[in-house]
Amino acid sequence: MSLNPEMSTRHMGYMWITEWISPKEAHMHGLEKIYFEGRTKYQHVVIAKTFAFGDALFLDGYVQSTEADEFIYHEALVHPAMLAHPSPRRVAVIGGGEGATLREVLRHPTVERAVMVDIDGELIELVKKYMEKWHRGSFDDPRVELRIEDGRRFLEEAEPGSFDVIVLDLTDPAEGTPGVKLYTKEFYQAVYRALSPDGVAVTQATSTRYNLFMYAIIRNTMASVFPHVRPYKAFIPAFLSEWGFMLASKGRDPLLPREEVERRLPSGLRFLDAETYKCLFTLPKHVKEALESEKRISTDANPATIY
Ligand code: SAM
Repeated sequence: MSLNPEMSTRHMGYMWITEWISPKEAHMHGLEKIYFEGRTKYQHVVIAKTFAFGDALFLDGYVQSTEADEFIYHEALVHPAMLAHPSPRRVAVIGGGEGATLREVLRHPTVERAVMVDIDGELIELVKKYMEKWHRGSFDDPRVELRIEDGRRFLEEAEPGSFDVIVLDLTDPAEGTPGVKLYTKEFYQAVYRALSPDGVAVTQATSTRYNLFMYAIIRNTMASVFPHVRPYKAFIPAFLSEWGFMLASKGRDPLLPREEVERRLPSGLRFLDAETYKCLFTLPKHVKEALESEKRISTDANPATIY
């Protein structure tokens, strides 16, 4: 099996994926084994075992998550939003290919229905086959409905108020890609409409190191729609960066006191406890300054992009 030559090279006797973080910076991943390499209708997919991070999923050359640290990303993405709602029963995961976001949602015993909407059915079949460590059978949970369609259209057509929590686990707003329309004001208006009156939404919000301007734009854009938006971050080793997230709520302030976090965090987590939760929302000074100074928002007519 050979890798897309634009992204790979043979060096020291094994294959490497070069992940271009920007036109001036790259992360090279040495590959011990390639399970799958090919193109779906929507994206180029590599599922491989890397020497540094274990098994990993790459989409269009960008690492999505790795065996070594996916628990950090997925626990940080899901649980602050699930806790922010007093009793989340109906949850939508938009994107979320690997099934690990779904896995974390399903840890909450209040959940009665979890709809996962990913555009790429071929990718989901590959995930089911090669990435059991991520989804751990979540797709077969009786509470789950898997839908293969555009997440934006799904939310635009959803019954208003039909979800308590919406988790946006989507590919980055990279220039020239459809991901750009998943971080705009009009998109968040559709998210807002689909949420119940005390509904909560969360999105991954790119890197606070190499895309800090975009992190601030996503905060501004969500804040133009939601009354409460709390920016946060977690260090993800495979992303070589502190990773950004935005937590938005229609009802109460989504940032909770320690006692409530301690009482409601589900068991079995490896990353998040009440102390770590507090740390997620403690932003360094330069990040706070960037959030203060950036004034732009992203719209369909004038979308903000990275790279
Ligand atoms: N962890 C990732 C990151 O940091 O970029 C994102 C996770 S996940 C693999 C991204 C998923 O979003 C993919 O499975 C992709 O198919 C899905 N996706 C992209 N555009 C979509 C859309 N318009 N509707 C639904 N899913 C979409």
